[in-house]
Parts: sequence; C-alpha cells; structure tokens
Amino acid sequence: MCEDQKNSKIISLRHLFLTLGILAALGCFQFFFRPQEKAHRGDSDMLALEFPVMGTCAEIVLYGKDRPALEKAAAAAQAELVRIESIASAFRAESDLSKVNASAADRPVAVGEDLWKMLQLGEFGWSFSEGLFDPTAGKLVRLWGFKRKRNTLPTPEETGEAARVTGWRKVKLLENGRKVSFLQKGVDLDLGALAKGYAVDCAVERILREHPKAAYAGLVNVGGNIRCFGTPPDGAREEGFRIEVRDPFREGEAVLGSFQLKNAAVATSGSYERFVTIGGRRYSHIFNPKTLRPAEFPGSVTVVAPEAGLCDVLSTAIYLGRGELARKTVERFPGKITVIIWESPRQRPGIYGIFTRYCYDAAKK
Ligand code: ADP
Ligand code: MG
Repeated sequence: MCEDQKNSKIISLRHLFLTLGILAALGCFQFFFRPQEKAHRGDSDMLALEFPVMGTCAEIVLYGKDRPALEKAAAAAQAELVRIESIASAFRAESDLSKVNASAADRPVAVGEDLWKMLQLGEFGWSFSEGLFDPTAGKLVRLWGFKRKRNTLPTPEETGEAARVTGWRKVKLLENGRKVSFLQKGVDLDLGALAKGYAVDCAVERILREHPKAAYAGLVNVGGNIRCFGTPPDGAREEGFRIEVRDPFREGEAVLGSFQLKNAAVATSGSYERFVTIGGRRYSHIFNPKTLRPAEFPGSVTVVAPEAGLCDVLSTAIYLGRGELARKTVERFPGKITVIIWESPRQRPGIYGIFTRYCYDAAKK
C-alpha cells in the first residue's frame, strides 16, 4: 500500500474514495475524510496526492479550478512534509534532530527555526502535562523495540539506564542563539508525537501563503493528523470537510457519526495502530515517563483544535493524562479545543469542550 509506493501519484476522486477505504482498513485514520461519491462540481475541481512520508501515509486533497496552479500548490505542500521529515526524523542519522542527539551533550547545538519551534512545542507539552508528554522518551522507544525489533522485555539494568537519560529537565533550550544543550550524555530526543502535526501545519500554511488563489478548499493528512481549510464541493450543503468518526474498538469501518471540520485540525492517539508484541502481549508506542513503561490504555484520544501541531501534542499528552488533562486543556484554551476520549467499548466517549454535529470553524473563534 502506501508504504510500498516508491512514487507519489495523482489519483482521481474514485480512486481517492477507494484509497481512503484502504487506509482506513489499515487503521491509518480513526477520523477520516471521505468525499461524497459524486462531487457537485465534478471531479475536475479536485486533485488528490497520496504518498509515504514520516513512516506513515500522507494525503493532500485540494479543490480549485486552475489545474496547473493546484498541482503547484500540492507539490509545495508535499515538499514541506518531506522537508520537515528531513529535519525531525529520529531514524535518519543526517537529520537535524539526530545531529542534536549526537552532540548536544558535548556542546550547545544551534538549530534552525523549524526544529526550534518543534522543541518549543515539546517543552510546552511537557510543562502543560506536568511531565507526561516528554520528547526525551527516545531511549524508551528504542529500548522497547520500536526502532529495531527485539523479542524480549527490557532488563532492569536497561530500564535504569533509560531512567538516567529520560526527562525534559535534562534539556536546555538556550533562547539566545536558538541552541539546544543536554545536561546529560545519552539523552535521546524523539519528536514522533508532534512532528507529523507540525508538518501538516507547515504544509497547509505554505499553500495558504504561497498559493492563496490556487485552492478554495483543501486537506492535508499525515497518519491521521489532519488539517483542512475551506469547503469542498461535496460538502457544500454543510461548511467544511465531513470527518467521519470511526469506532476505535471495532475493526473495519464502523462509523460512530460525523462532524464538519472547517479551518481546523484533528488528531488521534491510540495504541491499536502502533505497538510491539513481546511474549504474545501488545505494548503501546506511547510511554509513561513516570513509570518508564508503555501506557496501558486500550482506548483512544482525539483532539480538535485550530492547529495540527497542537492537536498532535495534546492527543498524546491526554492519552497519558486522560480526563484530568482533558479538563485542564479546555480550561486553558476556552472555546478552541474539543477532546474526545474513548475509554472502553462499553462506554460512550467522554467529550470535553464544545462539540456540535455541525461546523467547527477555528477561524470564527
Ligand atoms: P502516532 O505517532 O502514532 O501518531 P502519537 O502522536 O501519539 O502517535 O505519538 C507517539 C510517538 O511519540 C511514539 O511513537 C514515540 O515516538 C513518541 N512518544 C512516546 N511516548 C511519548 C511521551 N510520553 N511523550 C512524547 N512523545 C512520546
Ligand atoms: Mg501526538
């Protein structure tokens, strides 16, 4: 599927419909956008691009009358996702993040604007969640086999070593000169919980900034981190994009309902997509830095907010901090954020903040 594709491709509305079905089946989205089978203004308004990036599937869907302009805007958005991946990847030795990991314990390392903003977002997540969200979880991620498969649980010695290098307090962001310094050797930053959302913001903002006339509506989705603008023709009776809500506890396409998302973003954190199996047991890819173990929450957390980076940070943080942190979030960002927590298949989801069946328009707030 997406991961196997060497090249991106432009797909038609029919194919997009099919592709979204496949992506949904792969568990790529719990929330997904599905255009109506027939666009009111015809297929020709829509351009859809699907490609692998940041270890997951991405899609860019744009609507506009001027095909060449639309293609340029989509290419710019795609380039933006690839650019952020090359900065924030923890898998590539040559990424800016890997360079920080390699040297910041020896000397302060100067970083570019994007990595700086991502680190600041990480620091916000850490302080807001009182240490549950922690970009220094890299060592734990490695230890539990998320970077290189292993079949055994970490030993107490390994967990002790992870404890030594985990904790944002060991990281200093030096405002003066935009430098990063580690107070401890072995700190392993991992931006997996926020880089996809940040990249989606960069892509959408670049379309709006550099190609403002190309698309009257659009959506960028990286592994379920979605941000959209405008209203597509197939959603013309209601404003924004229709986002369907999948049941996280049931395989396939069980849809709980839908809502309209306009000029806003949505992200979901759950363990049903990314996990490792050791000794026949599944372990989540989200770690609780306080216990140094994978979180044991079978449900999922969805956050709707004006920006995708914020959604990404908050959905991971609230996955760990659940109801208490969800309440704190809606108090901190009044009228701007909605949090949906699915605790178990037997319970209705908990909803925090404003949630209407209809329009969610961050531009109006
Ligand atoms: P996904 O990457 O599946 O969209 P998330 O946004 O919730 O899911 O991010 C999970 C990723 O964040 C993990 O794969 C790991 O790289 C990193 N991570 C794990 N635990 C934490 C944590 N406590 N705080 C910040 N990042 C974490
Ligand atoms: Mg996240």
